[in-house]
Amino acid sequence: MKVVFSAEQLRHSPARILSSGALVDSPEVPERAATLLQAAIDAGLEQVAPDDYGPEPLGAVHTARYLTFLENIHTRWLRIPGASTDVLPNVHPDTRDVVYPKSAVGQVGYHVFDGAAPITADTWDSVRWSAWSAVHAAREVLQGASSCYSLSRPPGHHATSDLAGGFCYLNNSAIAAEVLRDKHARVAILDVDVHHGNGTQSIFYARDDVLTVSLHADPVRFYPFFWGAADETGRDAGKGFNLNLPLERGTADDDYLKALDRALDRIAAYTPGAIVVALGLDAFVGDPFAGLALSTAGFGRVAERIAALQLPTVLVQEGGYPCNALGDNLAAFLQPFINTDN
Ligand SMILES: [Zn+2]
Repeated sequence: MKVVFSAEQLRHSPARILSSGALVDSPEVPERAATLLQAAIDAGLEQVAPDDYGPEPLGAVHTARYLTFLENIHTRWLRIPGASTDVLPNVHPDTRDVVYPKSAVGQVGYHVFDGAAPITADTWDSVRWSAWSAVHAAREVLQGASSCYSLSRPPGHHATSDLAGGFCYLNNSAIAAEVLRDKHARVAILDVDVHHGNGTQSIFYARDDVLTVSLHADPVRFYPFFWGAADETGRDAGKGFNLNLPLERGTADDDYLKALDRALDRIAAYTPGAIVVALGLDAFVGDPFAGLALSTAGFGRVAERIAALQLPTVLVQEGGYPCNALGDNLAAFLQPFINTDN
């Protein structure tokens, strides 16, 4: 099994994010990737660097206007007298069905939905390589690997087709799913991050060729607050092809696994040709976000059940923040896929 990662993904390192009104250090630090990479290598994975796949796989998920914005906004921002070093929004429209502003400040408010996705001089490079790692992992699976792990950092599941937020800029899991669609008529995305994958849901909400399933802490009292309820099931052709399983704060292994079984039953009934696991490790009991309470062994049990689907599987890193067991949690999750690989 391979781990796909580029050192370019380490360059994005914003000074501060906005959290509960305060500017604080971001937990989404480059050191996360170093910890996860070391754990993957220690577990026996072979490290490979992604190729430069250009704009095409990014454009399969994101609008051209948004990609142009991400590429250029930091340079434009620095021309504003007195502007901060990193790009942060301070004004938002009530809906996105509005006149698109020409000003940099207006466009930031349009495209960035919260204060946890600052854009630095290095963000565009890092997020492209993070997405290309996901592309590379999906192509490995298309070429016959039973599974592949994309160490996608920065993460992606909160990013919609034209919005950044929650540490996310390009939706790596969605981009991987689109690559898998080249060969498979139906692809499932299973999101086990503690936060609802609102971006992934949004991207595929009106489609039936990509099933989106998310287990997460109930957003009624947890980020991302506005999306992730059980009654969000899709629309138009996508009606019935989005499944949200919101869980009570503090849900631990046994109850989590019961919800997972519902998710896996839905996925099995859908008969996808391949699956993307949006692999957040922040449902851990010791994660700083403290939303759910999975144990390290619990991650192993979750992964065993997913691996038992025996589907070609792309594991795409999402959240999971510095804590004493971050590397162990990844190793526990990878192990069933390593076993299947042999
Ligand atoms: Zn998360």
